[in-house]
Amino acid sequence: MSADILKALGLDKSNSGSYLGKGEWSRTTNAGVVQSVNPATNEVIAEVHASSQADYDTIIKRAQEAFEIWRTTPAPRRGEAVRLCGEALRKHKDALGSLVALEMGKIKPEGDGEVQEMIDIADFAVGQSRMLYGYTMHSERPGHRMYDQWHPLGLVGIISAFNFPVAVWAWNAFLATICGDICIWKPSPRTPLTAIATMKICNEALKDAGFPDLFFLFNDAGTDLAKAFVDDRRIPLISFTGSTKVGRAVGERVAQRMGRSLLELGGNNAMIVDDTADLKLALPAIVFGAVGTAGQRCTTTRRLFVHESIHDDVVASVVKAYKQVEGKIGDPTDAKTLMGPLNSPEAVKHFLEAIEKAKAAGGTIATGGTAKEGKGNFVLPTVVTGLRNSDEVVQTETFAPILYVMKFKTLDEAIAMQNAVPQGLSSAIFTQNVKAAERYLSAVGSDCGIANVNIGTSGAEIGGAFGGEKETGGGRESGSDAWKVYMRRQTNTINYSDELPLAQGIKFEF
Ligand code: NAD
Repeated sequence: MSADILKALGLDKSNSGSYLGKGEWSRTTNAGVVQSVNPATNEVIAEVHASSQADYDTIIKRAQEAFEIWRTTPAPRRGEAVRLCGEALRKHKDALGSLVALEMGKIKPEGDGEVQEMIDIADFAVGQSRMLYGYTMHSERPGHRMYDQWHPLGLVGIISAFNFPVAVWAWNAFLATICGDICIWKPSPRTPLTAIATMKICNEALKDAGFPDLFFLFNDAGTDLAKAFVDDRRIPLISFTGSTKVGRAVGERVAQRMGRSLLELGGNNAMIVDDTADLKLALPAIVFGAVGTAGQRCTTTRRLFVHESIHDDVVASVVKAYKQVEGKIGDPTDAKTLMGPLNSPEAVKHFLEAIEKAKAAGGTIATGGTAKEGKGNFVLPTVVTGLRNSDEVVQTETFAPILYVMKFKTLDEAIAMQNAVPQGLSSAIFTQNVKAAERYLSAVGSDCGIANVNIGTSGAEIGGAFGGEKETGGGRESGSDAWKVYMRRQTNTINYSDELPLAQGIKFEF
């Protein structure tokens, strides 16, 4: 099975992890090895040779050369390059979706969904390539014209997390490409194969169409190259997706050199279910939000606030649904599976530690709470009741399927609890009360980057800007006007009169 997937994507048991441009993959074999491990078995799928300093230097040099050409290429023509990538991804969706499932551990429909997200953002970026709009302003001076325009930024560094091993790259790379930038990608060491496969698919699609090298890749055996990447003044933008702990350090280092960073960090997402909620909608949203991707989405539902009048009934229904999911935990590449493994043995350890902390704080395990016997990193989806929102374990993002359910009396109390965490990514309310919905979306409502009504916290569409506030980092990617972060803005004032009036009516006569 795994051999067939690798073969379909042009991968071997041993692969180069550095795409150097000009159709060339590095031959470096002495800079360490990154192992791709199947989280369902903990067996090695294949090995990837990490990149050397010399590989990195070649990548930067060639990326700079490519930028000289790309920044003067008309944006709609840049869109054509992304269109070709989207077409190629359509052809490889099944195989790449399977590799995402195999290497990351999410179930096959979610692996395919991730590739679909890449295709969707490619389509979006193609259209956007004709809409890099600036404003035209009316000058306060006669015979003057003002407008702003957007120019390419330069090299864009993309550092991605294991849980969306390919979609996050596409969100960044396809928009940056139509903006005239050249992208260099350092993927997660837990998912190197999906990154190599993606590079092969996209660069192969571009090969015969006469485009310069647009996408480069390096893999780091440790963190030395990644740190140098973050500090590299030749890279005006670092887009980082990952934990708040690492993202904080990345943000500080990029700020030190006055670079620009786009940070997409951890979440601690909550859903509020009030006493008018349509539970036919709320229940599946809770279960998919908390259990989908085995709780390893940045937007996973981790806290559930239920009106006290329906709390016990909702908990009973959620527990019943979880028991059904329990029977369908297993190999993520099997079509019948609903929940795959956690990505690593360390993640299982963190899951078990959180369960112990929850119990110590007085929580009750309503269902789950243990790891599964046997090989692979499987745990049971878990519901914990009886904790307070202020408990340390509830305040922390544990990247696993643990749902903390808490009671509330009034909407304002629920909103206050929802917002009283360091993170600010995604949030949702289930209500049929229009006043409650509007209050939740108002300036005194949710403080998150994403706030939904009658749909869950996870599974965002690419058309909206994606990202969160507070310790989630403040970045926005994907749709809406997120493209602007990949460009530099320039304000232009043109005088077509015979006078030189100064702004604010200042007189300077000599
Ligand atoms: P992580 O922080 O461990 O790793 C992320 C990336 O940073 C990896 O590529 C890693 O190799 C790299 N890295 C590690 N140390 C580095 C350093 N010193 N300098 C530069 N790069 C370094 O995160 P993870 O475990 O891969 O991913 C899970 C986390 O990502 C969760 O917290 C999740 O919420 C978050 N996430 C957020 C979003 C979002 O859009 N907000 C999306 C996906 C994941």
